[in-house]
Amino acid sequence: MRKSSKGHRNSPAKPAGHLPVFYSSTYTVSAYEFDTTRKATWVAESIREQTIPGVELIAPVPVSQVILEKVHDPEYVEAVRRGTPRELAESGGLEWDVRLWDAVSASNGGIVAAAKKAQQSRAHAGSLSSGLHHASAAHGKGFCTFNGLALAAREVVAAAPRRVLILDLDAHCGGGTYSIVRHWPAVVHLDISVSSFDQYRVEASTPSTLDLVTDATRYLPTLHERLSGLNEIEFELVIYNAGVDPHQHCQIGGLPGITSAILTERERIVFEWARRRRVPVAFVLAGGYVGGNLSQEALVGLHRLTIAAAALGNGGATLTADKISSVAGMAQRESRSSRAPRSDSTRL
Ligand SMILES: [Zn+2]
Repeated sequence: MRKSSKGHRNSPAKPAGHLPVFYSSTYTVSAYEFDTTRKATWVAESIREQTIPGVELIAPVPVSQVILEKVHDPEYVEAVRRGTPRELAESGGLEWDVRLWDAVSASNGGIVAAAKKAQQSRAHAGSLSSGLHHASAAHGKGFCTFNGLALAAREVVAAAPRRVLILDLDAHCGGGTYSIVRHWPAVVHLDISVSSFDQYRVEASTPSTLDLVTDATRYLPTLHERLSGLNEIEFELVIYNAGVDPHQHCQIGGLPGITSAILTERERIVFEWARRRRVPVAFVLAGGYVGGNLSQEALVGLHRLTIAAAALGNGGATLTADKISSVAGMAQRESRSSRAPRSDSTRL
């Protein structure tokens, strides 16, 4: 019987560690129907139906108006709360309704909670909200109302002896975030995009970078090089905007040649870098849109890769793409949806 410890060590039964993931159905109560306002519930339901080992869904406290106004102009915050002036309230692109405030307060509360949890526990955490990286201090943009990445960074840097890295791998540029954090010395903004939407110029005096990748073969090498370039900096926390819209099947941002396998490897690179540096990651879902060749099932599957990589990271073992794919349940999900046509590139 004592020898069972050896068997346990080699067993894949417990590959993942505990992973707090913040989510509330309030994230998705706004009337405006769009993937960004609905996706959190799709992913939460998939986790309830097909567990990712270690994941615990936790309802966050909504972010307060006081916290919102540390990053956003009070006039803009008030416009979103009251719905007037309507043009400003809807500047993010979401039609205003009485539940929009509840939805954005809850979802931004999720990313702030994930960042604080990761900072305090020194382990990865996440939220099924989005980073909302196009929102700037004075207005929204590109389906982003309040900038959750900046709000989370603002809440953790005050108590942080080290810097905070905002890692933005959404397909689109995070110009809204950069416009807010560019003068925050405690924040480094690493942005790798495949679309020029919301492009911006990085000030040369900072370690922040923006890369616009147009050749899929350069996507992972660019990520590897940029992360390696930050090896001399001690980070308190990574806030990771884990968009899957670079996927070639995503009609809003996808780059031909970026496959599911490449996004799996991307998650491995990010969480392996974090594991070796002993820096916790607070992740959010970010872009990724149903349409064309990307079904809702496939989209949810791509977001599960990030969650699986984080759970494995909290387990402490070296990450491999096979482990991430397995814990995410990609094989089972693909066989379940095998009636849908797919190209070889989606196979892992
Ligand atoms: Zn995007």
